[in-house]
Amino acid sequence: MQPEAMNTSRTDAAFENKLRPHAFDEFPGQDQIKSNLEIYIAAARKRGEPLDHILFSGPPGLGKTTLAGIVAHEMNTQMRTTSGPALERPADLAGLLTSMQEGDILFIDEIHRLSTVVEEYLYSAMEDWAIDIVMESGLYAKSVHLTIPRFTLIGATTREGLLSAPFRARFGILERLEYYPPEHLLAILHRSAKILGVELDEEGGMELARRCRGTPRIANRFLSRARDVADVKGDGDVTEAIAKMALKMMGVDANGLSEMDRRLLETLLRHDGGPVGLKTLAMTVGEEDDTLENVYEPFLIREGYIIKTPQGRKLAARGYDTLGHTPSGDLF
Ligand code: ADP
Repeated sequence: MQPEAMNTSRTDAAFENKLRPHAFDEFPGQDQIKSNLEIYIAAARKRGEPLDHILFSGPPGLGKTTLAGIVAHEMNTQMRTTSGPALERPADLAGLLTSMQEGDILFIDEIHRLSTVVEEYLYSAMEDWAIDIVMESGLYAKSVHLTIPRFTLIGATTREGLLSAPFRARFGILERLEYYPPEHLLAILHRSAKILGVELDEEGGMELARRCRGTPRIANRFLSRARDVADVKGDGDVTEAIAKMALKMMGVDANGLSEMDRRLLETLLRHDGGPVGLKTLAMTVGEEDDTLENVYEPFLIREGYIIKTPQGRKLAARGYDTLGHTPSGDLF
């Protein structure tokens, strides 16, 4: 089951693509990363070389895929897109790599989910621009040496820690995306409103920006729902009142917490504040443990609602506060 604010159906993908920036100056926020990339891109272009391999990490919806597209655009190259789980066999990878042109970008989303065999084939591709593929098997097995055009691999991951050390070491550029502050989210919302042809006032924008968990994907989704409310209940403009109405309909509270977030906090409270193991927590709230770990937890941890301990998850001070409780005894 995918969380409402995060799922990506086909219509969602079309909506996201419509709002996706294609250049750095259309991409508010992540200033340090943008300025680093601009320098690396300028240097690679000056030397006429492909860009070093890049690893973008960070929670979902912060712009990893978008940045990869911008890099390809700025490098004036084609980008081929795939994902860790889609590259099942080394042959899938070989097919992709041999069809690329010099300088092209291969974008692998969820790169932490690559199988170990495919990952190992990637090593020689990344370093030596060649792969040795074993054709057939058993008695007739033969190895074919394929040279491939010099390409740039851009990997995106929500779980950098799951990448093996040798794999990580093969990326020359490692950038970690952070949650966005409200002022950058406001800029993103105004840009999206313009593309969608909806009038968004300052207060309405701020209301959405403050409650979208620092995540552009969620901000855009909120805007889309607020536009629906504005069209049906208002005069088409997204004002503070309209934004509040839309957020209430989506079950988003004043702090931007969703029903699932609150369910998580309440589960911990019922267990005396924890520790509760990830699997137990996932089963109790009816969500995949992967989704809890990748989507919900990073924000709750960063904002001080919960903490992660080797024994499991525990309710932290802000978590108690939100639920109107005081912890019994010392917290940690
Ligand atoms: P990720 O790959 O990190 O999950 P995406 O790059 O797919 O995230 O971004 C999700 C959505 O949010 C896209 O529609 C994208 O255009 C939008 N978005 C992300 N970051 C920004 C940004 N800094 N400025 C404008 N839109 C953004």
